[in-house]
Amino acid sequence: MHAIGIDIGGTKIAGALVDDDGTIIRADRQPSPATDPGQIEDVVVAMVTALAEGEDVTGVGVAAAGFIDAAGSTVYYAPNINWRNEPFKDKLEARLPFPVVIENDANAAGWAEFRFGAGRDATDMVMLTIGTGVGGAVVADGTLLRGGFGSGGELGHLRLVPGGLPCGCGAHGCLEQYGSGRALLRIAGELADAGGIGLPLAAARDASGTLTGAEVGRLIMEGDQGAVSALRQLGAALGQAAASLGAVLDPQLFVIGGGVADAGDLLLDPIRQAYLEHLPARGYHPEARFAIAELVNDAGVVGAADLARVHAAKRLSPASH
Ligand SMILES: [Zn+2]
Repeated sequence: MHAIGIDIGGTKIAGALVDDDGTIIRADRQPSPATDPGQIEDVVVAMVTALAEGEDVTGVGVAAAGFIDAAGSTVYYAPNINWRNEPFKDKLEARLPFPVVIENDANAAGWAEFRFGAGRDATDMVMLTIGTGVGGAVVADGTLLRGGFGSGGELGHLRLVPGGLPCGCGAHGCLEQYGSGRALLRIAGELADAGGIGLPLAAARDASGTLTGAEVGRLIMEGDQGAVSALRQLGAALGQAAASLGAVLDPQLFVIGGGVADAGDLLLDPIRQAYLEHLPARGYHPEARFAIAELVNDAGVVGAADLARVHAAKRLSPASH
């Protein structure tokens, strides 16, 4: 049976009809009606209806950035959309003939990598999605970790630096402040201010008025010393966090996704190095592998669809997990 995955992003809503091998049968994409919850609901209902036409559909999974309850039904808080305690599952199910489950977008992407991407041979996997912020997903013993309240796996808010930089979540020193795309721009800006190896970064900043991710990315690919140094600092923060996560979760594999992961080994090498430096009982413990995410653009819809299928299976046999 097919399932439908919907990924609500800040600028677009993507949807796909997905088979049980994770292959996309049909896909759709619409601009997101910004912050209006009612219009977002309308777009999702229309998209699901069109994708489901003439098909046997087992369920609908919806991925969105935010804190979602453990039952996959209420969005407690979404940073990009005006959702506060939004009962999105009930609202969609009232308008659609399918069961719906709501999932955090980083969790959906992580689940897709676990099932069909870089993590398909692992049983225990941690994914870090390095975009503007840092998203996280944890798969432990083949199960997506949601936590008792549904907000487990928010790895971007792991505290890396006690008393460190303030974070949008209200805490200080979160990994997101040292390991995200926004952090990369901050570090690159500091190097530009310092001169020396930062001079090409300063020149790029002067040319356009502000340093963008695209410019820093271009300089990294050109091997510019300053830009690569900024990326190495980012990798060091992420690797240190990976070592702490390893102490708790002992995964076989860390998958690194998001836009910054386009840098490939230039990012993975410093992550791996810092992970090994901070790994407890180094030399007496198998070392986890590090890999770049494989599904990139489709991970959200494919993961959300597969999680809808997992939920459908649970409903049919509620005693098992
Ligand atoms: Zn935080």
